[in-house]
Amino acid sequence: MNKKPDVIVIGAGVVGLSAALALLARGLSVTVLDRTGPAAGASAGNAGAFAFTDILPLASPGILKKAPKWLLDPLGPLSIPPAYSLKIAPWMFRFWRACSAAHVAHSTKAQTAMMDLSKAELEPFLAATGTAHMLRKGGNLQVYETSAEFEASQPGWAARAEHGIEFTHMDAAGMAALQPGLSPQFTRGTFTPGWYSIADPKLYTIALGDRFCTTGGRIMVADVKSIRHHDTGVEVKTEAGILHTGKVVVAAGAFSHGLVRTLGDRIPLETERGYNTTLPVGALDLRTQITFGGHGFVVSPLSTGVRVGGAVELGGLDLPPNFKRADAMLKKAKSFLPALNTEGGTQWMGFRPSLPDTLPVIGRSSAGDRIIYAFGHGHLGLTQSPGTARLVADLVLQRPSAIDLNPFSPQRF
Ligand SMILES: Cc1cc2nc3c(=O)[nH]c(=O)nc-3n(C[C@H](O)[C@H](O)[C@H](O)COP(=O)(O)OP(=O)(O)OC[C@H]3O[C@@H](n4cnc5c(N)ncnc54)[C@H](O)[C@@H]3O)c2cc1C
Repeated sequence: MNKKPDVIVIGAGVVGLSAALALLARGLSVTVLDRTGPAAGASAGNAGAFAFTDILPLASPGILKKAPKWLLDPLGPLSIPPAYSLKIAPWMFRFWRACSAAHVAHSTKAQTAMMDLSKAELEPFLAATGTAHMLRKGGNLQVYETSAEFEASQPGWAARAEHGIEFTHMDAAGMAALQPGLSPQFTRGTFTPGWYSIADPKLYTIALGDRFCTTGGRIMVADVKSIRHHDTGVEVKTEAGILHTGKVVVAAGAFSHGLVRTLGDRIPLETERGYNTTLPVGALDLRTQITFGGHGFVVSPLSTGVRVGGAVELGGLDLPPNFKRADAMLKKAKSFLPALNTEGGTQWMGFRPSLPDTLPVIGRSSAGDRIIYAFGHGHLGLTQSPGTARLVADLVLQRPSAIDLNPFSPQRF
């Protein structure tokens, strides 16, 4: 590197690149380091949703009720491989503690502020980065099989209504008008129009990387090993040598905890592994994204095909993928949407970076003000990337934060 950049961002996923673009737009010189290159991680294969209406934390009493049943099915929506069950236990204990009513109220308030900020930032960010043509406003249809399941969802919808989120409950006829061909076993549904999506999350992340490079940013392939904070700057040690910079943003997704440990911070980041199959364009005439909440997966219309997937496998970063999970979701999707052509799909597994209280970590390292953390967005990294970019820029430039950052503090654990 010829010149010391003002900022090094570690991680060229959607969070790191969005933050890097926001910093560049504010006049800073920025280098992004990624051990593989843009869109190598979870940002490539996700479901593509800007799920702004998803303000309720995953850590909640509702999930505690569903989990035991889900865990009984080895290929179901939630699984814990035996080889990882002891390692994940401390994270699960924290998750369980975050399910109390007081915690849920606190996380919902924080998540709502983050969603409102991200929604407000999204369209200006897309316009500024030449990616506005990739935005879709097709909404989301959450479907229910039984009236008990529908009734159980009502407190969640009431909480969303309190926060001004628009939605419409539907009967079978309403759903058929919106999405023909849905199995009649789904008798009720809820449509949220304020749920946006991106044409394809990998192409979007790559487009952000391209935009960053053509407007003065630099992306280097480098595996970061450790970070050191000094009074006058930061040293970033890579396998190819040491880089010097004024400030660092750690946005390495599910791998961030290893990096921040080199700064003395211990953050309980785990991964919720997710699976999907992307079918060719035309596999289904899909009019909106459909969430099969009781089965833990979604079917998403992308410009590159129809993506079927979700599920949570608490299996850490090292175990090999178990693509039987992707097969199981595809089989269910076929029975729920019989016209779905399941031929010719590509399977994928990705690492959601997840904190036990469902909130990301956005704030300064305990090692010093020059290092900013931006990771742990779990199921919502794409959705919250525009808001996170704004918050990171404010932190780097030491400007007042757009929202209260205390709930996202790295020191909260
Ligand atoms: C099945 C599935 C569906 C999902 N659906 C959605 C959705 O619809 N909407 C939504 O908002 N979110 C969704 N998510 C979550 C979303 O994908 C993630 O929250 C988001 O992609 C995280 O982005 P990131 O930039 O933090 O991490 P990543 O995209 O994982 O990027 C991290 C980057 O850091 C790099 N890196 C790691 N360690 C190092 C190192 N030591 N040195 C250099 N580089 C390093 C990696 O190579 C990688 O490129 C989904 C996730 C999954 C798995």
